[in-house]
Amino acid sequence: MLLKDIFVNLSIFSFLVSAAVVTRIFYFPIKPVKRSRLLGGCYAGVVALVLMNISIPYEGNLLDIHYIPLILSLIYLGFGPGVVTSAMILLGNLLFSSHLTLDYSIFFTTVLLFLVSFSLLKKPYQKVLLLLIEYVLVVFIMHGFFGVPLSLSFMATLICFLFVCLTIGIWLMEGHNTLYSLMNRLSELNATLKESQQELKDTIRGQQGVIFKFKKVEGKFVVTLCDGQLIRKQQLNPEIFIFSDWTKLIPASLVEPLTLYFEKAWQGHEMNFEQEWPVGKIFLFMLQPILRDGQVIEVVGSVINVTEKKRVEMALEESEREYRLIAENTSDLITVLQVNGKMKYLSPSHQTILGLSPSELIGKDFLTIFDPQDLYRLKEKFARIIVDQRPDQIEFRFQRHDEKDPVQFESRCMPVAGINGDVEYIVIVSRDISERKKAEELVLVSEKLSVVGELAAGVAHEIRNPLTTLKGFVQMFKKGEMDPIYLDIISDELDRIELITNEFLVLAKPQVVHYRLDSISSILQNVITVLTPQMNMNNIQVHMHLDGELPGISCEQSQLKQVFINIMKNAIEAMPRGGNITIRTSKAGGFIRIEVVDEGCGIPPELISRLGEPFYTLKEKGTGLGLMVCKKIIKEHGGRIDYASELDRGTTVTIELPIAR
Ligand code: ADP
Ligand code: MG
Repeated sequence: MLLKDIFVNLSIFSFLVSAAVVTRIFYFPIKPVKRSRLLGGCYAGVVALVLMNISIPYEGNLLDIHYIPLILSLIYLGFGPGVVTSAMILLGNLLFSSHLTLDYSIFFTTVLLFLVSFSLLKKPYQKVLLLLIEYVLVVFIMHGFFGVPLSLSFMATLICFLFVCLTIGIWLMEGHNTLYSLMNRLSELNATLKESQQELKDTIRGQQGVIFKFKKVEGKFVVTLCDGQLIRKQQLNPEIFIFSDWTKLIPASLVEPLTLYFEKAWQGHEMNFEQEWPVGKIFLFMLQPILRDGQVIEVVGSVINVTEKKRVEMALEESEREYRLIAENTSDLITVLQVNGKMKYLSPSHQTILGLSPSELIGKDFLTIFDPQDLYRLKEKFARIIVDQRPDQIEFRFQRHDEKDPVQFESRCMPVAGINGDVEYIVIVSRDISERKKAEELVLVSEKLSVVGELAAGVAHEIRNPLTTLKGFVQMFKKGEMDPIYLDIISDELDRIELITNEFLVLAKPQVVHYRLDSISSILQNVITVLTPQMNMNNIQVHMHLDGELPGISCEQSQLKQVFINIMKNAIEAMPRGGNITIRTSKAGGFIRIEVVDEGCGIPPELISRLGEPFYTLKEKGTGLGLMVCKKIIKEHGGRIDYASELDRGTTVTIELPIAR
């Protein structure tokens, strides 16, 4: 009987608590907690009232568990709700109690103890234990106090009953808490999921192409997702493709090829292909099968419009083909250099003309393929092109392994600026000018010989004077008149003859071109030595104003001598009745300036621009090659030559040569 009553009590308690828990969780899952707590306190009071009314009479007392809802209310809902529950229990006592004083005392003592220990202790399990013990003690003591002692068996049964009831209560409340937080978490996750689904949808919709998914259902490909601007821009709703017969929605001619590709993707192959679409469009399709357990369950595809990209690519290819045609078939050498000197492109003509394989040379230093003699000049030239960002021209030699003579090249170097405005590449177009060079050299030699010929007369004249002197001395020696003083004069005269003949020989002999560091002053002095006889014959005085501290220049001495002889000869010839020639040297920036000023007939202004043209001469016996040779030599030395003249007043020739670094 007792057990049955206990069971009924516990069942009703469990039912009432779970009813509240279920209602709370499933019908008001996210109600504000604050308000629902007070409501909970109230409800706990109601449960207590119900339990109060079904307490079990046992050994002349009542087995009563209506304080359990109060304990649970305090623990799970807090202080305020606990007070509310207490108030309801008090009300119950007033309404239903048979031992009012005893029940009052139990109530007040218990509630007081509960509230005090509730505010003192922190941990829930400590609270539960303490509240239970307090309650049992209060019941025991109060019964004793009011002369209604409790038997040991009653106490034991009560404690067990309370304990089981409390366990069920805690169990249900904990379950509630877990479920409640799970529900909350679930609804949070649900919200996030919805948000990301929307985001994904928006992304797919917003992207420029189309994204779609398909799978095979009953032997047919069915589109399960489809969106993107490519379709929307055609004023079409992408959803018409989903779960519909898409083959009717695209041009009929494309159904077959697309189905073939879809089939391959369905077999597990990743497919990328370009598909021409009617009215001149090209779409790039990418199909990616999605596998699960080795089985394709779906294929994700994307489509982008590549028409414009294709058009540009084709135009680019076309123009590249054209350029390649030119570059690969020209007999000129086309080389593209990076600023660090490494070769980036070499035209195939390098193979035919130089015997060099372009593929082997790419990435190597340009300067390694040249004659070491030219290196210095080339380096300087490239450095200048990069700094000045201006095209320039350069000549150099290349020694082929299979030939004796080096090949001569003339190259136009074009700097190409990158995005930031700095030079990124140098494009060099080189042409074999060996033949032209040979012809030019012939001109040079013949011009030199003609000058030599003319000079010879002067030289001979000049040598004759000291020779006459020497002859006189020889006569004197024969007669035995030997004065050692004469020996010094003889030695001086011989030195002079030697000097003149040496300089003459340097000029007349063909020379291999070697650039060396030299002093401009000594070159000019030597030239004057050679020309002195001729100037003496023509009654011409030379005035030299040479700057003694000029830096050296990198030059071919014999060529520069030839330049100055030609210029001086022109000056001498411009002054048939004699006059003065002034030679001045000075430093001008990175150059050395040499001015040769005469007081001759001058050059008509309209003819000045023609100076340096081959065979342009105003003289009866002139060759018109002198200034041409000068111009060429000075240009090869990286310098410049200028003429300023006034008729019947005189001419100034200015030459500037770069200072060696
Ligand atoms: P050539 O001396 O054989 O005539 P050049 O090339 O040396 O040939 O000179 C070309 C022409 O330039 C000369 O014929 C001459 O008319 C003119 N010329 C050059 N230098 C002078 C000068 N210093 N004074 C006057 N005329 C000059
Ligand atoms: Mg001349």
